[in-house]
Amino acid sequence: MSDRMERTCPVCRASASDADAFLDERVDPSTLDSFSFASRKEPEFFNYRMVRCRKCDVVYVDRPPSQQALAQAYHEADFDSVEEANDAATAYLRELAPALRRVERNSALEIGTGTGVLLEGLVERGFARVVGIEPSPAAIAAAPANRRAWIREGIFQEHDYEPASFDLVCCFMTLEHVREPLEIAESVLRLLKPGGAFVTVTHDYRSAVNRLLGRRSPIIDIEHMQLFSQSSIAALLGNAGYVDVAVKPFVNRYAISYWTRLLPLNSAMKQGAMRLLSSSGLGRLKASFNVGNTVAVGYRPHESKGTDA
Ligand SMILES: [Zn+2]
Repeated sequence: MSDRMERTCPVCRASASDADAFLDERVDPSTLDSFSFASRKEPEFFNYRMVRCRKCDVVYVDRPPSQQALAQAYHEADFDSVEEANDAATAYLRELAPALRRVERNSALEIGTGTGVLLEGLVERGFARVVGIEPSPAAIAAAPANRRAWIREGIFQEHDYEPASFDLVCCFMTLEHVREPLEIAESVLRLLKPGGAFVTVTHDYRSAVNRLLGRRSPIIDIEHMQLFSQSSIAALLGNAGYVDVAVKPFVNRYAISYWTRLLPLNSAMKQGAMRLLSSSGLGRLKASFNVGNTVAVGYRPHESKGTDA
């Protein structure tokens, strides 16, 4: 852990002295297996120390592991949830509707594309060219053959793409995981055509469900380098230069068995519940809940100042 350098606020660059304690560190290295870094899995409730910025309201790990260590962890992460990825994509496509009415449908990029299921939905909605970037080979291996050509393995890097070449860039449940969300938002702005949209989905640590669960919330997780509220995700997009920023709660629809897996029960209770759901068939029913996520959209201005530099 010697590579863990103190950082400034990842949203507004205020110093760590402008932040208050939010959560003490709780790390048990012996239990950190590769499943810890899969994007949807049983919650583990381990976390690095987190502080809350008084200027912009984001909660962040003030001494994060290196970008390289994070990239390696994601490279090794297993992918265990094709059905959940499909359910999530259905919800994302619904939330994308307002942005899709505003943008051209020539080209779209998804950062953290998983199996590329969202890309398929975008093609069905008329996008001529779709690209996804995904660090986990296991997720890509779970993608159907028809999507493989759209998916690039690796982490998002601006120089891999043409400036001003996308109408839409999506980044869902990924901005918590990266070290520099502001740099990513700024890079995406430069990759968007003027008028193009950047759409994100993030956890909302201030939502009722996450406040209720406290340390037992699935958002309290070793893999989260920052946690947003509605105001801090809006601040991120505003600071990066987006206009017409809009933020609202996001409703997920998943199978009951998936929600049960996320509940903060002990594993014997959870296994009993899962067996009951499985034998009764109830576990396959889909249900919608607001689990405390936020969808945010911002647009690249038509007259941008200095963003092409
Ligand atoms: Zn801040």
